[in-house]
Amino acid sequence: MEGALTARDRVGIQDFVLLDAFTSESAFLDNLRKRFNENLIYTYIGTLLVSVNPYKELNIYTKKQMDIYMGVNFFELPPHLVCVISDNGYRIQKMRHQRKYVNNHFILISGESGAGKTEASKKILQFYAVSCPKTKLLDTVRDRLLLSNPVLEAFGNAKTLKNDNSSRFGKYMDIQFDHQGEAVGGHILSYLLEKSRVVHQNHGERNFHIFYQLMEGAEDEMLRWLGLVRDCQKYSYLVQFDHFVCYVSVLFWWPAGVTVSFSPAYHLAVMQHLFGIIASVLHLGNMQFQTDYRGYATLNSNTELHWLSKLLGVPMQVLREGMTHRKIEARAEEVLSPFTVDHAVYARNALAKAIYGRTFTWLVNKINESLANKDSTRKTVIGLLDIYGFEVFNINSFEQFCINYCNEKLQQLFIQLTLKSEQEEYDMEGIEWEPVPFFNNKIICDLVEEKHHGIISVLDEECLRPGEASDLTFLTKLEEKMGSHPHFVTHKLADQKTRKTLQRGDFRLLHYAGEVTYCVVGFLDKNNDLLYRNIKDVSFSQVTSSQQAHNPTQFKSSLMGLTEILTSKEPWYVRCLKPNDAKQPGRFDDVLVRHQVKYLGLMEHLRVRRAGFAYRRRYEVFLQRYKALCPDTWPHWRGDPAEGVQMLVTHLGYRPDEYKMGRTKIFIRHPRTLFATEDAFET
Ligand code: ATP
Ligand code: MG
Repeated sequence: MEGALTARDRVGIQDFVLLDAFTSESAFLDNLRKRFNENLIYTYIGTLLVSVNPYKELNIYTKKQMDIYMGVNFFELPPHLVCVISDNGYRIQKMRHQRKYVNNHFILISGESGAGKTEASKKILQFYAVSCPKTKLLDTVRDRLLLSNPVLEAFGNAKTLKNDNSSRFGKYMDIQFDHQGEAVGGHILSYLLEKSRVVHQNHGERNFHIFYQLMEGAEDEMLRWLGLVRDCQKYSYLVQFDHFVCYVSVLFWWPAGVTVSFSPAYHLAVMQHLFGIIASVLHLGNMQFQTDYRGYATLNSNTELHWLSKLLGVPMQVLREGMTHRKIEARAEEVLSPFTVDHAVYARNALAKAIYGRTFTWLVNKINESLANKDSTRKTVIGLLDIYGFEVFNINSFEQFCINYCNEKLQQLFIQLTLKSEQEEYDMEGIEWEPVPFFNNKIICDLVEEKHHGIISVLDEECLRPGEASDLTFLTKLEEKMGSHPHFVTHKLADQKTRKTLQRGDFRLLHYAGEVTYCVVGFLDKNNDLLYRNIKDVSFSQVTSSQQAHNPTQFKSSLMGLTEILTSKEPWYVRCLKPNDAKQPGRFDDVLVRHQVKYLGLMEHLRVRRAGFAYRRRYEVFLQRYKALCPDTWPHWRGDPAEGVQMLVTHLGYRPDEYKMGRTKIFIRHPRTLFATEDAFET
C-alpha cells in the first residue's frame, strides 16, 4: 500500500548487501540507526556481523532464542550474534552425527573501547555452553571456560573513561572440541597487560577491579589478616577511587575461583595467597621515603614493611635493603649503592607492577592447566579473539601506543583475509571478478614495526644506551628516521597550522582509525620495564616464568605468532560499534558511528561484497530456502542440487547475466535479484 510504512522501512534491512541504495555511507547509517531504534543491534554484511552496543539488556540471549538458532542456517533468521557459532554449532552437530571433524575457525571481534567486544565474546562462550551436549559431569571444561572469565576480568579489567569494564589486556582463547562436539580443552593467551595502571590511573579512572572487590567483599577477619582497612582513600594506589559501585562483586568471583583452581582445600590456600599478594601491592603503594642527612632514601615507617614481610614471606631486613639500595656488581663483588628518594619511589612502583603482572601470568597459567586437554587426538578448534579496543584520550602514552598498534595489526589481518578469501572463493568456484580498491593500512604497520626503521626498533635502540638516551632523544631519532612519512608528524616537522596542535614532546600517528597524539614521556622507561636487580631477587621465587609479552618487541613477535594461528583457521568477523560516548541506551550519535563505519572499513567490505557478486549461497541452502517457489522443486528435489537451483532460477526468470553457477554455490550479481525472490517468497 502506497504511503504506508513497510516492515523494511521501519526495521531496516538485515543484510547490508541487500540495501537498495547503492552503498552510500548515509544509506548505511540510516539502516543502522533504524535498526538500533528498534533494538535490532545486529546486521550482516554477508557473513560479517555488525553489532551496535545497546547499553541495555536485551532479551535476545535466552536459551529459547538459542535453541531457535541452533541447527538452522543462519540466513533464515534475523541477524544475531549466535550466527557466528550457530554456523559452527551447526557444524558441530553435524560433526556429532557424522562423527567427523570440521575446519578450524576463529572469531575476530573488533571495535573501539566500549563497543561491546568482551560482552560479545562472553555471549559466544555461553552459546557454546548451551549448544554442547549435556553431560553428567559437574566439573567440565565448558564450566571452567565460563568460570575463568570473571576471574580474568577481576584481575585484567578496570574502569576507564571510555568503558566501566574495560579490558586492559588482550585475550585469545582456543576451545577444543572432540568428535562428538563436546568441549574437551581450552587455552588462553594473554597479551600485554597494562601494568602501569597498578600504580597510576588517569583522573576519573580506576585501578583493576580486584582491588575494590577485595576492599568491599572480603570479610572483616580476612582484611585484618591482610593488614587492610575497608577504606580505599587510605591507599595511595586507590585514592582516585570515585565511589562507583563495584563492578563485579567478590561474592560472585569467589566461587568462580573454586572450579578454576584445584581441590577445595588447596583452593583456600591459593585464594589467601592471591589476596595476600594483592594486599601487599597496596601496602607497597603506601610506602613513603624521606631523605637522610646524606641525601639518600630511608623508609618513613616500618608498618608497610612489616605487612609486606608477612604477606610475601620475605625477611624485613632484605626488603628494607631492596627498597632503598641497588645491587651493583663490581669486579665479581656485589656492592650496595643507596637510592635517592626518586629512585626509591621508582623502584617501589616497579616492584608493585612486577608483582601484579606476574600474578596475572600465574593466574592465566593456572587457568590453562585446568583447561588443558591431556588427550592428543585430533580436535576441532575454535578461536576467539577479544583484544582491547582502539583508544584515544586527551593524553596518550606508551600504553595507548601498544593498544593502537595491536588494533592496527588486526585491521591488517582483516584486510588480508577478507580480500584474500574473496579472491580465493571466486578462483575456487571458477568465477571472474574485478578487485575493489581499498585503503591498506600496511603503511602504518610498517611505520611502527619495520626492522631497523620502525618506531619500535628506534625505541629499542634508545633503550640500549642507558644514561645517554632519554625520551627526548628518542623523539629526535624518530624525527630523523621518519622525516616526511605521511602518517607521522611532530611539532618540529609540522606545518604552521598543525604545529599549534602539538607539544614539543609529542608525536602524532595517523592511524587507520584516526589521528592519535602520543606524549613521549615515559616511553623508554616503560619499554625497558626494568626491575632493579636486587628487588627482583627477593620477589617471588614461586611465580612461574612469564610467557607474557612485556614490551612492544615481544608483543610484536607474539602478534606475528597470533597472525599465524589465525590465518590457519576460517575467519568469522564481528565488528562492534559504539553508538555514543555517554554509555547511554537509546542514543545514536551519527557523527561517532559514521567515523567508526569509515575506519573499520565497513563500506569497503560492503563494496567488495557487491562488486563481484553480492550474494552467494550453497546450492543446498538456496534450494532449501526457495524450493517452494517452483513446482519442479517443491516439496522435494532429489536430484543434483545445482540442477535443482538451475531449474528454480529459470522458473523465477533470472536473466543469464544476473547470476553465475559456481562449483558448489550460486553467485548472484545484484542484491535486487534476491530481493525480488525474497518478496515473491513472502507473498
Ligand atoms: P574495551 O576495549 O574497553 O575492553 P569492549 O569493546 O570490550 O571495550 P565491553 O566491555 O564489551 O566493551 O562493553 C562495554 C559495556 O557496554 C558493557 O559493560 C555493557 O554494559 C555494555 N554492552 C556491550 N554489549 C552489550 C550487549 N550486547 N548487551 C547489553 N549491553 C552491552
Ligand atoms: Mg573488552
